[in-house]
This record gives sequence, structure tokens and C-alpha cells, in this order.
Amino acid sequence: MQAFAIVIGAGIVGLATGYELSKRHENVFVLEREARYGMHASSRNSGVVHSGVYYSSSNLPWKAGMCVQGNRMIYELPMDDVAYKRSGKLIVAQDGEERELEILKAQGEENGVEGLEIIDGKDVAKKEPLVKARAGLWVPSAGMINPDEFMKYYARRLGNSVLCGREVESIDFMKSGFWLRVRAGGRIENVTARYVINVAGAGADTVLKRMNVTGDLPEQHFCEGVYYDVPEITISMPVYPVHDQGSGGLGIHAIPDTSGRLRLGPNTIWVSRENAFDYQHPADADPAVSETMKQEFFESVHLFLPSLSYEGLRPGTVGVRAKLQEKGEPPKDFLSYIINNTNGVGKMISLLGIESPGLTAAPALAKDIADLIYAWEN
Ligand SMILES: Cc1cc2nc3c(=O)[nH]c(=O)nc-3n(C[C@H](O)[C@H](O)[C@H](O)COP(=O)(O)OP(=O)(O)OC[C@H]3O[C@@H](n4cnc5c(N)ncnc54)[C@H](O)[C@@H]3O)c2cc1C
Repeated sequence: MQAFAIVIGAGIVGLATGYELSKRHENVFVLEREARYGMHASSRNSGVVHSGVYYSSSNLPWKAGMCVQGNRMIYELPMDDVAYKRSGKLIVAQDGEERELEILKAQGEENGVEGLEIIDGKDVAKKEPLVKARAGLWVPSAGMINPDEFMKYYARRLGNSVLCGREVESIDFMKSGFWLRVRAGGRIENVTARYVINVAGAGADTVLKRMNVTGDLPEQHFCEGVYYDVPEITISMPVYPVHDQGSGGLGIHAIPDTSGRLRLGPNTIWVSRENAFDYQHPADADPAVSETMKQEFFESVHLFLPSLSYEGLRPGTVGVRAKLQEKGEPPKDFLSYIINNTNGVGKMISLLGIESPGLTAAPALAKDIADLIYAWEN
């Protein structure tokens, strides 16, 4: 197969990128190693359309910019067939935590997030009657989206250009671009492409290592996030506690999905690459761990959602974040790693560390990549 561009990985970033590229070029294909698209991080997340308050513009400028831009793009896309809601969200503070809200508000405003407002406990309860807090940051541009339908939006438009059951095993340079060896079941397919976009999520650093290049290549680290379902309570918008920025997550939050189903999570459990993808809920794996974890979830959320009952928590899904920082290190920005074909034409772009807000940022990341390739070609 001869392609103009090959996108490796059919998560939300790969599907959005494939679509953006196919609007401007022919022969764009998305290769996915699983039997279906979107089986990893893109379907195992909170489904929150983030606003951009969490990312400092000095340390995490690309995350901040892509999140704010992606948020706007999601609401502007003609997505009649996707369930999403610009519900707004609350970040809530208990006694002594109010200052954290000021910091997030200032950071968000610097990033261009509009409509942020600090409100007192009474106004928090007006917006979300089951929530109890000393104060809250009202974030009107945040919302919820159904991640599976969001992926389907792009996959439908790409049609037969999404090829599942195709694992990229090696990539080599050639004069007219790149030569990829792709495993498709029991056989190997040879594919050539002028551009390769490696958006293989947690597998993106492994894909890079499958290329014949020397030097220090970026390495990803893995942080699992576990959810509990709460069938008996409904709220109308995501509610987050203020959290420790170095924890690896955003604090255990309460998130309704677009159909009103409430979930709690995700927590942060650093795991090795080998243990990262079995997705077994710890409550099903080990009854001892399970009680401690359920207690941790209950206590974190009961603080701001007092009607929550311990008995009401049911084990839910598990997702894995691909991060560039290791446990204990401050958050790192998304990374774009570009390899020029020094033998001839073409480039390979790899995106690494595409953790949250990657779902929100996907349309913006995709447009950035398509603009870059357009600029190289013209
Ligand atoms: C617990 C959790 C909660 C989150 N919550 C939110 C949220 O509320 N809002 C938000 O904006 N973001 C959130 N995120 C982040 C968001 O889900 C991710 O940033 C996003 O889904 C990443 O998409 P992706 O396409 O890069 O990766 P993935 O969805 O992981 O897709 C990568 C694909 O590449 C494929 N692949 C790997 N290697 C190969 C190969 N060699 N050949 C072919 N295919 C390959 C994989 O099979 C996979 O399908 C959350 C993430 C997690 C884990």
C-alpha cells in the first residue's frame, strides 16, 4: 500500500488527525492494532470536556493552549450524532482551601478561559443541590461528552480508511518517505508513506523504538485510574475537589455521563508497562485492596457529596494515563517529537504524554498536525 500519510493508533487523537488530514489530502490511513478502534485511554476516561484551568501557561503551555482551543472546537463541531452537554462544572473547596480556587481562577484567566467565577457555598448548592462546600469555582465552559460517540463521529467520516487489526512492527527510512512493516493477523503488509503520525497513546514510545534511530528517545510512564459507579445518585455536572497538583490526577471527582449515570474517580496508581493494560478492577482482583480503595473513594467524595452511601459504590472501569513524568515529578507538557527523513522526503511526528486533557484537546491537536504538514508541503 502506498499512502500519503499513515496515522498509527485509532484512539481519539488518531481518528481526529486522520480526519483533519483526509480533508486536505488523499491516501490517508489510520492503522490500529486492536480489532476495533478506541479500546484504550479514549474509551476509559471521565468524558469531561475540560476548560483549561489546570495547566500553567508557563510550565504546560501546549496543554493549556490545546485544551482551551479543543474545548471551543468541540462545541462548534456539527456533532448531531454525539451526546455532549456544555453543563459547566464546579471545583469545590472546603474550609481552608479557598485560596486554591483563586489560584486556579487566575491560571484559567491567563489561559483565556472565559466566565470563571468564585461563588460561595450557597451558590454552589443552587447550582448542584446535593453538593456541600465552603466555596466553589464555577467553570461554565466545561462539559461532558460521550467518548465512544465522539470517536464514532470521526471514524464514520473516515470510513474504510481506518484499518483495524494492523500493528506497526517496524519503520525504516526510504528516499520517498517511510517504509512500515505492518502485522495483519498472520501476514506482514508493506506500507509506504511520506508522513507518519505516531499517536499510539501508551504505545507511542514503543513505536518510536521500533524505528531505526539512535539517541535518547522519550519514555512514557503509566498511571492507572480506577472508577466506581454510583447507580443511586444523579447530579447534573462534573464536581471536582481542589487537589494536589503533583498527585498525577485531578483528585477523585464525581462525574455524571451524558446519560446521567454517576461515576467517581479516577484515582492514581502508578504501574509498570507490563501491568498497565489488563484493566481488571482492583476490587475484582484482591478483596483486601478493594475495601481500602472503596473507603478512600467514599471518604474523598462524601466530603462534598454527603448523600453518598458507602454501600452505593460499585466497581467500574479502569483506564491508563500515558505520562512523561515519573511518580512524584511535576506534570510535564504534551510532547511532539519530530524525525526528519534525512535520506529524502517526509517526516514522522510522534505525540507523547497525551494524558488528560487529551480527549478535549484532540480536535486541536489534529488541526495542529494537519496545519504543520500543509505548511511543509506548500
Ligand atoms: C482515567 C483517565 C481519565 C481521563 N479523563 C479525561 C477527561 O475527562 N477529559 C479529557 O479531556 N481527557 C481525559 N483523559 C485523557 C484522554 O482519555 C487521553 O488523553 C486520550 O484518550 C488519548 O488518546 P490517544 O488517541 O492518544 O490514545 P489511545 O486512546 O490510547 O489510542 C492509542 C491507540 O494506538 C493503538 N496502538 C498502539 N500501538 C500500536 C501499534 N504499534 N500499531 C497500531 N496501533 C497501535 C492502541 O491500540 C490504541 O487504540 C483521561 C485519561 C484517563 C486514562
